[in-house]
Amino acid sequence: MTPLYEYVIIGGGITGISMARLLQMAGVRSVRVLEAAPEAGGLCRTKRVGGHYLDIGGGHFLCTKYPEVYDFVFSHIPKSEFNFFPRVSTIALDGIELDYPLESNIWQMPLERQVEYLISVVQNGEARGLPAPRDFEGWIRWKLGDRIAETYMLPYNRKIWGVEPQEMDVDWLHKIPRLAVEDIVSACLEHTADAEKMPSHQGFYYPKHGGYQEVFDALLNPVADWVDYSAPAQTIEQGDGCLVVNGKYRARRVINTAPWHTLAASPLFPPHIRSLIASLRHNTVVVSLHEEDYQTPAHWTYVPSLDEPHHRNFYIHNFAPHSDPRGVYHETNSQRWQSGRGEVYSHPNEYAYPLPTIGWADTINQILDWAQSLNIHGLGRWGQWEYFNSDVCIYQAMQLACKLGHESYVDAIVDDKPEDLL
Ligand SMILES: Cc1cc2nc3c(=O)[nH]c(=O)nc-3n(C[C@H](O)[C@H](O)[C@H](O)COP(=O)(O)OP(=O)(O)OC[C@H]3O[C@@H](n4cnc5c(N)ncnc54)[C@H](O)[C@@H]3O)c2cc1C
Repeated sequence: MTPLYEYVIIGGGITGISMARLLQMAGVRSVRVLEAAPEAGGLCRTKRVGGHYLDIGGGHFLCTKYPEVYDFVFSHIPKSEFNFFPRVSTIALDGIELDYPLESNIWQMPLERQVEYLISVVQNGEARGLPAPRDFEGWIRWKLGDRIAETYMLPYNRKIWGVEPQEMDVDWLHKIPRLAVEDIVSACLEHTADAEKMPSHQGFYYPKHGGYQEVFDALLNPVADWVDYSAPAQTIEQGDGCLVVNGKYRARRVINTAPWHTLAASPLFPPHIRSLIASLRHNTVVVSLHEEDYQTPAHWTYVPSLDEPHHRNFYIHNFAPHSDPRGVYHETNSQRWQSGRGEVYSHPNEYAYPLPTIGWADTINQILDWAQSLNIHGLGRWGQWEYFNSDVCIYQAMQLACKLGHESYVDAIVDDKPEDLL
């Protein structure tokens, strides 16, 4: 008879490993983590290519609005092991590089373009008192006007998401800047933006050694023995008073951090749940390393031009000075990816972003409610199918640990509270 675990966690990315670690800190010892790949880390992995540290899941930086997440991370890897950087990100538009966000930096553009963009803003739907549309394209036009929408926001969003913005919902837009019309106009006239009104993530921590995986590894180390590698969860069934994963892992509760699609063939999943899962969409992003000389002080640049396949460039040496100076990596939606354009190395991330297509929130809520009634909990970017960054994945794991009665993990957090949090 196989052991009966208190928890089987599906997926050994930062969500699954944080959950395992929180349970361990709360004194739970009966946990197994199943990881499909031969190594853990998911999107938070770093690969050393020559002298470059490449974050193969794309640009990863530590920044959170949750102090308890900093406490948790810094109690595993001290804050002194990180550099802190005020964020420098730029937008490559019309042959110039201007600071992000565009709404605060229209003054950096040629005069003719400044006039067009200000007219676009003051004539937008919001300024005219119209209600906000319920699709992303309509919202962009309503918020910024047609000219900015057509030359910047729509091309960029088509590139990154790989679906028409018209097909996307608007309930995730806390992720992007939302300046009022008067703030955009004042920033242009005054050549400065009110820092209070800037979007979040004005600075970030990045490890002094290696890449973002240092954060992940610090969380993994204490629970490494709990992980089974090359062990994709394929089926979940109901056993005798428990759940059984892959016909052999018996558990009182299952925590799923993997895309639901990888489990949906299980007989346990009724047809209506399978069809809900099938309607959830995601994109695939290729991360490619290039060797180029660069002068920019930016950490990364947004590239809306449809002439270039990629949508973002990252200048590794600017946030990882220990990495070789000429390393640049690109993020490219797989639909636009073309190999053989000078990349030194490339890595496809099949599950990169869960897409907030219209109705996604209702769909995932139905799946989560059904699963929870069977003691299966969806958690993290894929389990909750939401555009969470790694800090929010950790925060969500904390929320679930508390909900399941394991809030005593808090007592095991060593206090390394930074004084100068953002
Ligand atoms: C381009 C890009 C940029 C990002 N930038 C940042 C950033 O700057 N800061 C930040 O904090 N976050 C960032 N993120 C988000 C961050 O990567 C994710 O929030 C986080 O890594 C998600 O962790 P996860 O464990 O939920 O999922 P994943 O990292 O995807 O891990 C899921 C794991 O489950 C495994 N798995 C899949 N199916 C199965 C199965 N059936 N059985 C067992 N295992 C399975 C996978 O192999 C994987 O290891 C970025 C993401 C992307 C794509």
